[in-house]
Amino acid sequence: MTEPRTGVYPGTFDPLTNGHLDIISRATRVVDRLVVGVAVNAGKEPLFTLEERVAMVEDEVAAIPNGDGSRVRVVAFDTLLMDFVGEVGASVIIRGLRAVSDFEYEFQMAGMNSRLNPLVETVFLMASDRYQFIASRFVKEIGRLGGDISHFVAPKVETRIVERLAHARAAPGKGD
Ligand code: ADP
Repeated sequence: MTEPRTGVYPGTFDPLTNGHLDIISRATRVVDRLVVGVAVNAGKEPLFTLEERVAMVEDEVAAIPNGDGSRVRVVAFDTLLMDFVGEVGASVIIRGLRAVSDFEYEFQMAGMNSRLNPLVETVFLMASDRYQFIASRFVKEIGRLGGDISHFVAPKVETRIVERLAHARAAPGKGD
């Protein structure tokens, strides 16, 4: 019997979108076990805390087929991605690719990661065309301007965003 293959899908997930969820669900068909790695990413000044982002991903992942805890785990990390990959015993990094806009960045990151550990492959998955254009950054921007974000995120995520942005308006300066 071959060893189960573990993949890591890293990201900031600030917030988790339907695009991310689509990639997670595709990834469960590519690897036996998936670790969704939620990066601290303090440099990006996230709208949601690390704990909130982990909870958001956990909530939604539980609802997808193959999303039970034995197949998908959600784990926070604040180390070098390759160190995290080693820690969880993964051999594959999963990344999502949206049209050409992501290519350059992803190409460089995959190249540098493969220098750090040539035994770990980066696998790129494309979301369904319904979700291709969704980006967390624009979801936040549309939300801030009072637009309808229900097409881009799950209902519970939408509620969290609306609440957070209402707070941010009351006390400006955080998460901008
Ligand atoms: P990062 O902090 O690396 O930008 P993100 O949470 O924004 O993390 O994204 C994590 C991964 O998911 C990246 O590989 C990104 O390209 C991919 N991704 C995000 N949104 C989509 C989408 N709508 N379709 C496909 N891939 C996506």
